[in-house]
This record gives sequence, C-alpha cells and structure tokens, in this order.
Amino acid sequence: MKAAKIIKLLDNWTPRYLVDKWDNTGFQIGDPEVKIRKILIALDLDRRVLEKALEIDANMIITHHPIIFTPLKSLNKLSYKESLIYDIIKEDIVVYNAHTNLDMANGGVNDTLAKILGIKNPRLLKPIYEENLYKLVVFVPNSHRDLILQVLGDEGAGYIGNYSHCTYNVEGIGTFMPHLGANPYLGTVNQLEKVEETRIETIVEEKDLKKVINAMIKAHPYEEVAYDIYKLANRGKEFGYGRIGEIEEIYLDEYLKIIKEKLDTEYLTVYGNRDKTIKTVALCGGSGASFIKDAFLNKADVYITGDIKYHDAQYGDELGLTIVDAGHFHTEKVILPVIKEYLERNIKGTIEIEIYQESSPPYIVV
Ligand SMILES: [Zn+2]
Repeated sequence: MKAAKIIKLLDNWTPRYLVDKWDNTGFQIGDPEVKIRKILIALDLDRRVLEKALEIDANMIITHHPIIFTPLKSLNKLSYKESLIYDIIKEDIVVYNAHTNLDMANGGVNDTLAKILGIKNPRLLKPIYEENLYKLVVFVPNSHRDLILQVLGDEGAGYIGNYSHCTYNVEGIGTFMPHLGANPYLGTVNQLEKVEETRIETIVEEKDLKKVINAMIKAHPYEEVAYDIYKLANRGKEFGYGRIGEIEEIYLDEYLKIIKEKLDTEYLTVYGNRDKTIKTVALCGGSGASFIKDAFLNKADVYITGDIKYHDAQYGDELGLTIVDAGHFHTEKVILPVIKEYLERNIKGTIEIEIYQESSPPYIVV
C-alpha cells in the first residue's frame, strides 16, 4: 500500500480543519508514492525512534507530536533536529503526525483518555471548531434519480442524527438548449429540450462536500450538471479540547489510585483540596493548563491534565478547583494503541504496525 493511502486514512480521522491555528502538523516528510512495508507509532520522533524504525524495517513513522514545528532554517547535520530529518529523508522514511487535530478528533486523545478514566457521556471542555453544514441541490433526469440518491448517500451526504441517505425529492420539468460544440446526453443542438427531472436536496457536512460533489458529477449522465450549494446556518458538529463528564461518586484518593493504574504511572501531582468526594471530572491530555478556567466554569470537581506550573496551580487554588497533574506523557501515550487499532481496522492486515514501546517521559522522579 502506498503512503498516500495511509495518509488519506489518517486525514479522514483527524481532518485538517481541526488543526489549531498555532499548530503545524500532518504529512511532514517523505514520498507519498512510496510503498509502505511496516509502520512504527510513537509519541515523539527522536533518534531512538528512527533507529528502531530502521531495526524493524519500518518505512513509515506516525507520531502525535510534530517533528517539524518551528520553521527549519537549514537542513544540515550540525544540529540534532536537522540531522535527524536529514537521515529520515536519506532512509526514504515517510513521516506523518496528527497533533491538535488528534486531540480534538472523535476517538482521539481526549475521548480515549475519558474512556480509560471511566467518564460517562463526555462533553467538550473547550469547544474550538464547529463544522459547517451545506445544502446540496442537484437536478437529475428521473432515469438516473435512484443512482444519484445512492451515490450521494454512500459518499456521506444526508446524515441527520442516526440516519443516513436523507434527501428530499420534487419532480418537475428541466429545460435546456444544447449549442454548437456541446455533446449532450439527450437533446438536439439549437432545440429547446424539456426533460422530466427530479430536484434532489440533501445536507452535507463540510468534510464530505468535495467528495460528494465529485462522485455526484461522475455518476450524473449530463455533460453539464446543474447543482447548487447553500451554506447553512444550522449548527454542525462541534470539536474541541478536553472532555468533562461524570463518574460514580468516589472519594478523590480512591480515584487517584484508579488514575495511576489506568495511566500506568507511579506519580501524580495533586493541587488543591484532596479531602472530598468527586463526581464531575474534567480532563485534557498533554498540556492543559489553559483550560483550568473552563474546568472551573463547567463545575468540575477535579481537573486531570499535564504540565501544570506553579502559577497555574495557584490559579486553580484561587478558584477552589482540585487539579491532578498526571503528566504530559502519561495522559497522551494512551492514544498510541488507538492509532494502531484504527489503521489495522482500515488497512485490514496488509501492513505490519508496531508501537514504539521504549518511550518514556524526558525526566525521572527520584
Ligand atoms: Zn502533547
């Protein structure tokens, strides 16, 4: 399988429009035409990960953190990052990463963390992006109506709640006059034609719009397809950072034990009041200090994240919010098996996929 196909699969799950403004992530290094033999998944791409990829003959590396974040000013062997990229290119390895888009995606970092920590009905802690919705209207000769209905639905148009292929159809008369140079499916040059047609209307999410239109034009019998696209004011799906939801009421100290076990970490740093029972839990994988206020405003009893600094903790204390710092690494590494499962489900066993097991946070607690 070519790299391009795997990149497309990953882009479908973690679409470009979920990449935050300050972020730089996606397909970063390599040739999309390269045939992938094996994939290595890691949180970061450092020299050890590259060596592991070479050792197991993996020619694609997928990470959560981008290897190219700040702009490169040179690509020589004089510094760590540039030298690493130089060697990756020389080895013809493809590098893909999904960062903020994987944080926000359905089933991404935060959904996974919420699931692991037993949070029921997780909601967004900080909505960032609302998907745009479009109304697509197309005029089809009745002979091709069923085909077009099928194609539209199969490509993702007409999703309303748990229903797919939703459309509305009105029959009418379409008119046209082919001119010289036209190659009409039906009709004669310079004669006004009347055709029994159906006006099909359906709703399309922004992420599907391009592929729905392409497939519709391909399946439509006319040389020039008549269709309209309207941007809707209806609310689309929301995406964002962090999650908040409920657990069975439990004494905080008991829940801390569960966090340690589920995230496979020996240490947690706890800020604020520990002597309480909790029910509403907010979380954000990685570095979530900027959402302390959101956790407070959403009435969380505890906020679990990583990278809490001294003054963040003071702010949480002022708000009366208990914060648990479970570490950037431990709150994000939970996504690695999920990436593996997603690829295995979609690639269907044709490429071997391995998770880099030797990774650790860049520090130890002594
Ligand atoms: Zn991170």
